[in-house]
Amino acid sequence: MDDQSLEALFKQADKIGKKRYHKLTVQDFEDYRRFDYWRYINGDYECGTTQQSRDWVHENSELYCPICDRKFSTRGGKTIDHKLPRAQYPWLSLDFRNLWVICQHCNQEKSDMHWYEYEHYVFVHYPKLYSNVSFARPTVLLQTLKTEDASE
Ligand SMILES: [Zn+2]
Repeated sequence: MDDQSLEALFKQADKIGKKRYHKLTVQDFEDYRRFDYWRYINGDYECGTTQQSRDWVHENSELYCPICDRKFSTRGGKTIDHKLPRAQYPWLSLDFRNLWVICQHCNQEKSDMHWYEYEHYVFVHYPKLYSNVSFARPTVLLQTLKTEDASE
């Protein structure tokens, strides 16, 4: 994917994200809080601290971080990340298609970057890891967003 098409997709997702954001319902906010509870009872550490979230992390990760290919234990441990940042897509907070387990180090670096921004960032800074990230692209999720946008 070249820079231009990446940017176009990024812009489109951004537009849909903003539009959806202003239409959040009370239920959306409740789901959001439910997710926060699921993820951790207290503290601000990214990795799940409730039993359910720990189990989920355990079931959905292996020894190595899917981005940097290094052992979680050498990279600050496992964290639950939102592929599409929840700052921008809060209603996807509890959508498991949007979640994956990555290391603490990669998570900090990814931060609130939009997915396409992040792909571009990895492409520029860590070209060898780019295929890992593009492989994990949340394509289905983004297609859902496009469909919802078109139906209005
Ligand atoms: Zn990593």
